[in-house]
Amino acid sequence: MARYTGPVCKLCRREGAKLYLKGERCYGPKCSVERKQYPPGQHGQGRRRKRSEYGTQLREKQKIRRLYGTLEAQFHNYYEKASQQKGVTGENLLSMLERRLDSVVYRIGFAPSLAAARQLVRHRHFLVNGNIVDIPSFIMTPGDIVSVGDGSKKLAVVHDSLRRVKEGKLVPYLTLDKAKLTGTLADFPARVDIPIEVNEQAVVELYSK
Ligand code: SF4
Repeated sequence: MARYTGPVCKLCRREGAKLYLKGERCYGPKCSVERKQYPPGQHGQGRRRKRSEYGTQLREKQKIRRLYGTLEAQFHNYYEKASQQKGVTGENLLSMLERRLDSVVYRIGFAPSLAAARQLVRHRHFLVNGNIVDIPSFIMTPGDIVSVGDGSKKLAVVHDSLRRVKEGKLVPYLTLDKAKLTGTLADFPARVDIPIEVNEQAVVELYSK
């Protein structure tokens, strides 16, 4: 699956929010959103126009898409699937994105950023229920166990990242066994427990036009 390979800090600056795409740097003074509080590009510091309703919905969609590192076609596919499920479409959409293997690896704390999680998955460092899975978009189901492969248990990036995981701070739909380097998707992620501030309803309104 194709992925965005351009400068990621510009994506945060475009959305005017920290999307935490770079790991360690996102938490320090070098974060570009902190240093340049205006959109990227030649006209970034120019006069701001009032955003239309469409513009607001579009920005919100782009923000969510970029947070999860998906390209437009794949993101739209997630939306289509979410709209066919029971329940609130926007919440179904976020729940599905959170169940991607790369999201689970990142949230559990095996990687410092979603991009790092994706690369580690691609490089075959993780097992799901005992089998190597190297597809970042693999959708996990509750009860699935993700573990660090035997040959990867000493990876510094995994241990450095896990050191930052604070006890009791894990989202409720995931569990972590730090000693065994395993984690479980315990339940479907409920909207209230997903730690991102976005308006997913705007995506539904945009796509259903
Ligand atoms: Fe975004 Fe992180 Fe870059 Fe800051 S450092 S702009 S949060 S990717």
